[in-house]
Amino acid sequence: MRKYGYIVAIFLYFNISLSNAQDLLFYQLSISPKDPSKIMIEVDTSLLGSIKAIPARSFRTRNNQPTLYCVTSKISQTLNYQEPTFCEKVTWTLTLQEVDRLGLDPTQHIDTYSPDKQWIFISEYNSFPSFESHHGHLPATVCSPSGICKPLPQSEEPPLLLVLGQKKEDIQIKNKTITVQSDSKVVMNHLSIWKPTLKHQLNYISRIFPAPNSSSWQIAFFSSHFNFTSRRGVIGKNTVVVNTPMQGGMLTDESIHSMLVFAAHESVHLLENRQHPVWAAESLAEYYGIKSLFGTGYAMDKPVENWRTFAKNFSLSGTGLIQANENVTKKNLHQYYPIFSIKGAAFWYELDKALQSKHSDLDDMIKFLDFDENGQFSQGFIERLTRIVGEKNWQLIAYKYL
Ligand SMILES: [Zn+2]
Repeated sequence: MRKYGYIVAIFLYFNISLSNAQDLLFYQLSISPKDPSKIMIEVDTSLLGSIKAIPARSFRTRNNQPTLYCVTSKISQTLNYQEPTFCEKVTWTLTLQEVDRLGLDPTQHIDTYSPDKQWIFISEYNSFPSFESHHGHLPATVCSPSGICKPLPQSEEPPLLLVLGQKKEDIQIKNKTITVQSDSKVVMNHLSIWKPTLKHQLNYISRIFPAPNSSSWQIAFFSSHFNFTSRRGVIGKNTVVVNTPMQGGMLTDESIHSMLVFAAHESVHLLENRQHPVWAAESLAEYYGIKSLFGTGYAMDKPVENWRTFAKNFSLSGTGLIQANENVTKKNLHQYYPIFSIKGAAFWYELDKALQSKHSDLDDMIKFLDFDENGQFSQGFIERLTRIVGEKNWQLIAYKYL
């Protein structure tokens, strides 16, 4: 009986791995030898029977999809999306935009390249369609010209972001490996001055936001003009892309402060598995981006001082965080967004101070965070807070910020 079970197990194992191997699609990328702004993609579909192309995930309202070609031994012709067709392979071409002289805006998910520095940034959005066979969805892996492959994420996951052609270095923290990379020689030549601080920050935030399924990720630092700071960064699946604002090509203390806050902010998004309302997700990421620098040589103004200075010249500063959340998410009024990061970071800072004065800490409360359907703290979470800081203290902070 035991022997029989063993044989079945072997059979099942080979059967499963064989069918997985057959169904896994490889998107092989290559750079056009004639034009470095063109990336050609080829997918072998010869063993799958008829397949159906599903449009790539799109970014906001931008819905342009690549033109696909179905290639057989006889002919190469346009492949229509959603139409079952037999192809030996499917090919398409992505056209990369040349990077702006101020820097890359990764938040726009536009496929970009730098002819001078020879890096390439490709977002899954509007670039990588998926495929179905009669068995259903076909998992895919995207392989760079140098042979590094990354799986195409599931639809509920952050998008795949490919950053190719940058120098890399690993940071080890406990059982995680974080790869840092940059297009800037200056950034990579000064690893010794910023890498220990980043390691300290990543260690700290992965203790507060212990996502079990994030064992490794990469952080790509793109050099940008110093007044390009509004384009800060974005996350993809296991990838953080952030800007490093430089002064005349030099790395100043301010540049390092910014790149470290941005990197920690985006890493918090990557590590926080729970879905919080936007105001809370953004403000917490920002506060922990800043807090993770406290006690290091790159800490700068406290969030409350930042907010005080910013609020003087910001006409919407009287708006509370919950109202701003409503304005951004329900009315698409994105001008309220700075409220989250600047006023929001000041809110968490004051709450953290109040908790610390009662021998507690915001770090201990993160696991209990809870919100109602209107984006406000749940009654249970408020009770937990007021038990520590007191009703009056809580009311003062809530009135000032929420
Ligand atoms: Zn953010």
